Amino acid sequence: MKERIVILGGGESGTGAALLAQQQGYDVFLSDFGKLKESHAEVLKLNGIDFETGSHTADKILNADWIIKSPGIPKKAAIINQIKEAGIPIISEIEFASKFTDKKIIAITGSNGKTTTTSLIAFMLERADLKVGLGGNIGHSFAKMVMNDQDYDLYVLELSSFQLDDIDTFKPYVSILLNITPDHLDEYDYDIKKYGQAKLRIAKNQTEEDYFIFNADDEITSELLKETNIKAQKLGFSLIDEKQAAFADDINFNINHPDKFNMTVEELALNGKHNVSNSLAAAMNGNILKLRKSIIKDSLMEFDAVEHRLESVISVHGIEFINDSKATNVNSVFYALQSMKTPTIWIVGGKDKGNNYEELIPMVKKKVKAIVCLGLDNSKIVETFSPFVDQIIETNNMKDAVNTAYLLGKNGETVLLSPACASFDLFESYEHRGKLFKEEVHKL
Ligand code: ADP
Repeated sequence: MKERIVILGGGESGTGAALLAQQQGYDVFLSDFGKLKESHAEVLKLNGIDFETGSHTADKILNADWIIKSPGIPKKAAIINQIKEAGIPIISEIEFASKFTDKKIIAITGSNGKTTTTSLIAFMLERADLKVGLGGNIGHSFAKMVMNDQDYDLYVLELSSFQLDDIDTFKPYVSILLNITPDHLDEYDYDIKKYGQAKLRIAKNQTEEDYFIFNADDEITSELLKETNIKAQKLGFSLIDEKQAAFADDINFNINHPDKFNMTVEELALNGKHNVSNSLAAAMNGNILKLRKSIIKDSLMEFDAVEHRLESVISVHGIEFINDSKATNVNSVFYALQSMKTPTIWIVGGKDKGNNYEELIPMVKKKVKAIVCLGLDNSKIVETFSPFVDQIIETNNMKDAVNTAYLLGKNGETVLLSPACASFDLFESYEHRGKLFKEEVHKL
């Protein structure tokens, strides 16, 4: 009899898993508590895959041999408890897909910088004429790529902690842990250690021939590494400690392992200290894969920022507009402000996720000339920052926010949209927020 796989959640990851499972000859059922995107429902129907929406019917789920849990399903959902009680193994789509490929995998995780670093790495590898399967937490699901493998040379996967929670044998050749800062703690019993440990699972199956690239400046990572047994070769990158395998200060950018090369920070295409770290990680990966130094350097010099991440839009009368709509937490705003080179009018606000804005005060004092709030409830922002800036103006739509910021700006200054908040109070998504920002800027 065919083994039965039940997939919980029908987004990009769940739909991909269902298609791959069917291709591999399993009896497949997909269950989504909410609605499916029309394109996903369509593709499941076209392929004759049985699915339900609007509920999780226990009878159709608890007879599975395997459960594939989509990353968005809460760990404490009632159905997950029932599955655990029934003793059915739960795996992630990443784990499942990895069973059907033996290609090399480069896997990137971290609280911030995943998409930037993953895209930069793929860009670099493509420059070296490698055929890259780029996906995971961005773009295509790993399962979909494995199913349609078009002679990829290797996979480059962005992975969230949720995707790593349910891996078992998944084993990347190079794993990269960019940083660990508070995010999604509600799913980890409000314990940063548990959240960090989920991220470190990226290296748990690696062996001596594999590599683990980590941020040696990150305190939580360093603490956790003391108590974690990692067999892969550990390579740290740092902006402080020049003894690490990769090191950059304000001027020099050096990789010492395994093949030395250096350039200047000034030459990097991506701005901001955080992007120096991301670039170090990407360069080290290039070195491990034995790419030519010229290819690594050229890629670092020519890679454009990913949309909505410190993306320079245009200058209007000498005022530069930067779209950092993806900055949905305080930590990423810290780095965005740190990278500002001229007095900044900062557009901030949205759906607060329990932010502690105090951490930003020193950076705001140094870089910010005026604040434009953009959210339904801006009270916390106004309260925290009004003693430190000359002007703080509240708006509740993008048009007003952009026009106000423009009026406050002078030749040679910067307007930065870096909200520190989710977008759902006024926008559909951070992409939607960033897109409207750019539209309004182009109308000026
Ligand atoms: P992720 O995919 O992990 O959410 P992104 O590359 O999309 O990360 O960047 C998200 C936000 O974090 C952006 O605002 C970006 O400027 C900022 N950021 C990028 N890299 C880092 C880093 N290494 N440390 C802190 N913030 C970062």
